[in-house]
Parts: sequence; structure tokens; C-alpha cells
Amino acid sequence: MIELTLPEIALMNRVLREAALLARAIQDESSAFNLTKDDRSPVTVADFTIQAVVARRLCDAFPGAVLVAEERAARLREPEQAEMLATIAAYAARVIPGATGSAVCDWIDYGVGEPGDRFWTLDPIDGTKGYRRGGQYATALALIENGMVRCGGLACPVMAADCDATATGGGILALATRGGGAWYTLLDKNSAPFMPLSVSPCAESARARLMRSFESGHTNVEALEAVADRLGIPRDQCVRMDSQAKYLCMAAGKAELLFRLLSPDRPDYRECIWDQAAGSLIIEAAGGKVTDMRGNSLDFSSGRKLTNNTGVFASNRYLHEVGLAALEYILKP
Ligand code: AMP
Ligand code: MG
Repeated sequence: MIELTLPEIALMNRVLREAALLARAIQDESSAFNLTKDDRSPVTVADFTIQAVVARRLCDAFPGAVLVAEERAARLREPEQAEMLATIAAYAARVIPGATGSAVCDWIDYGVGEPGDRFWTLDPIDGTKGYRRGGQYATALALIENGMVRCGGLACPVMAADCDATATGGGILALATRGGGAWYTLLDKNSAPFMPLSVSPCAESARARLMRSFESGHTNVEALEAVADRLGIPRDQCVRMDSQAKYLCMAAGKAELLFRLLSPDRPDYRECIWDQAAGSLIIEAAGGKVTDMRGNSLDFSSGRKLTNNTGVFASNRYLHEVGLAALEYILKP
């Protein structure tokens, strides 16, 4: 059983539920404020509010904890963003009474920590584009020790109860510890039990269900389709989905292969640690295997990005070798 009494797991259980409620409330009330970051990706009231609240909860539970998180408050501190900041503070005050704009900015910037021997990493809304489109998204939190993910949690507020990759539903919370398995529960039922996550036993590549980013610009669609063809996977077994919600579907046995290939427009792209930490542990703890495109283990000791890895390839383990061989064949120079 997942060790809910471990302080780190207890914190993830509490804050990820809180994050899911905030994400839903902000989406339902369709807040109109958005910013575009330097990398041209969007950031919403939900990203900022959730990072502020999770950071504050983390500080309260573990004073001195190091947090490496995706967002920064600098733009929010500009006078032009006063209205957006007031909206964020109002949402934060729903769960932390008295939250002010300046406190919220300070909590967000608690996430500028330096990755070291032991730190937390947070993506407040992974799949912001999916969130805005009504697709899948996740809040992802993980604890990293000595370059390895020790604990990871994903809240996926619109995941179906059985983690079916082609459906939506009332939401799933998944938690994993290295050596302690991966577990999930329903977000919309208060005292629902945690149940084990376990990857698919499928060992026949032509029957594999393949997951990829919804956004074509986040992967290499041509190479992906060539890999699928080489493995004999029909197009209708390929599922597009935003965020680490994909990793949850895989851990639940609803898909066998997951590829993040480098977009031809961004061949030097390196994955951010908060986009991979929680999801990769959940797949591994459910019995799957996660490497980069070349078969190397993910190395979480190289800072905010996975500098030593290119792309990501995850499988149910039984199809890993055949998947790597197909990748090598398609991507050979
Ligand atoms: P997904 O929904 O699986 O495509 O993953 C969403 C994440 O992809 C975002 O959180 C971004 O950090 C990341 N991302 C942004 N640009 C790229 C890119 N060019 N290649 C790969 N991932 C990207
Ligand atoms: Mg992300």
C-alpha cells in the first residue's frame, strides 16, 4: 500500500488534491488572464496560483526544502499585471486565508531553488495548452535525491476513472515511491481507496498502443509515424494527449509505448525535469521502463534540464528493446 504516513507522501497527497480543485475552479470560472513567456508558451492564472500554493505548503511542511519549479513571478510584479495578480491572490486566498499579491509572488519565487542532492520539482500545470483547450493536463510534483526520483505524484483532473486514454472523467491522483510501487485513486470521491497501477503485459508490438504529444511542435511526427510503421502499429492505435497524463495511462496499462522525439525545429531541445520526474517514476514503479531515445537512463543530476538525455522513450518494459531498435533504425543518420 502507498505509505500515506510518510511525510513526503502525505504532503503530495494533500497538495495535489488541492491543486486539482484550484485548477478546476479557475477553468470553470474561465479566467481571462494569460501571459506568453519568452519561449512563447502560455502561462495562466492556474499555473501561478498552483505554484504559489504548493510552494507555500511545501515551505510550511518542510522548512528549508529546495523547490525547482517552472514559473517565475517577475512579470506578475509589473504594474500592468496588477489585475491578473489580484485574481491569482483571490484564488490563493480560497485555500490560504489572507494571501496577498506580494505574498503570492514570494511563494511563486520560492521555486527558483537550485537543483542539488535533494530537492523537489514542480510543474503546476503541465500541458497548459491542453488545459486551455479542454484536454488532459496534470499537476506534477516529485522529490529528487542524488539524481534519482524518489517520490512522484500526478494529479490529472480530467482523467477517466479507468485511465482510458481516449476518454475523460472525474480525475485521478497517482503517487509512487521508488521501491514502493505506484498507486492511484479517484479525485472526485473523497475517501476512495488507493489501488495499484500496473503496466500492460502486451509483448506484441503490432498490438501496442502508442502515445505522443498532442502538440505536433513538441515531437517529430514524421519520425514517430515511421517508428509506428516499422513496429506494425496501425494509426488508430496512436493516441495524442497533452502532459504527463500520458504517463499515467501507460502506468495503468492503457498504452504500451510513449515517445518524445525531438522536433525538427528544436533539435537541441532538452527536457525540463518537472516535465519528466513524477511521470517517469510512476511508469517505472508500475513495472515499466523509461529511458531516452538512445536507451540511456534519465539523469536528474544535471540541473533544471535533462542535459545528458535526448528525448524520452517509455514502454511497458516488454516492448522496450524492440522500440529502441525501431528508433535506432528510423533515426540513424
Ligand atoms: P506534451 O503535452 O507532452 O507535449 O508536453 C508538454 C510540455 O512540453 C510542456 O510542459 C513544455 O515544457 C514541453 N515543450 C515545450 N516545447 C517543446 C518542444 N519543442 N519539444 C518538446 N517538449 C516541449
Ligand atoms: Mg510542463
